[in-house]
Amino acid sequence: MGQEYPDALIFSHGQLLVRQGTLEPAGRDVIAGQDIQDSFVVHPQGFQAVALAGSMAQAPEGYEWVRVRQLIAQDSPLAGAACRALGLLNWRKAHAYCGACGKPLTDTSCAMARWCEACGHVQYPAIAPAVIVRVEKEGAILLARHVQRSQDFYTCLAGYIETGETAEEAVRREVREETGIELTNVQYVGSQAWPYPNQLMLAFRAQWAAGELRLQADEIAEAQWFDPTNLPAIPPPGSVAYRLIHESI
Ligand SMILES: [Zn+2]
Repeated sequence: MGQEYPDALIFSHGQLLVRQGTLEPAGRDVIAGQDIQDSFVVHPQGFQAVALAGSMAQAPEGYEWVRVRQLIAQDSPLAGAACRALGLLNWRKAHAYCGACGKPLTDTSCAMARWCEACGHVQYPAIAPAVIVRVEKEGAILLARHVQRSQDFYTCLAGYIETGETAEEAVRREVREETGIELTNVQYVGSQAWPYPNQLMLAFRAQWAAGELRLQADEIAEAQWFDPTNLPAIPPPGSVAYRLIHESI
């Protein structure tokens, strides 16, 4: 038995429309008459992904908008489908035109790829792999506050994998660049799709090997070693950082 999917998942500004007080998705009839920015069938699951146009729409009576991270945090069976739909919506919005010749792309009939009728170029959905790491030293964990994020919390160090780099090299480089610390025993522990806009987060844990904290001023406002039993404000449940910090990944 495969998983049952709803007929549609409806998004506005990255949030999913659900029945108030539940994580049950709204049907298309609920948004009749509203302007649609994008709508397509997600293969192979067969449900429709819809993004409303314009500013964040008021939820219809009896419905509300929820963030996809809430579905992940509550282990909703829809979390995977919502991540896939939102990631694809984000990708389609950013790839409306052919990267080779600049003409508009059109949908293909079965796959999620889009193609250019003018030059034949086929564009596949892009995933941006990123690493995130729990760094440990004598029972303490390294958490940092970022300069450019509006949230006032401490989280694990993270960054995108560069072209030509392995995931483990990216972990060592990010931590070295941002905090001056050298790592040993870098171990992969799991992954999570993160559709903001199209990341695949690869989670690691690693041990401090050498170095004193020396922060990259334009990236990191503050970094400290924390006792896991006495943590500062951290990212909310549903994020891969939360699961790494709580060792639930
Ligand atoms: Zn083209």
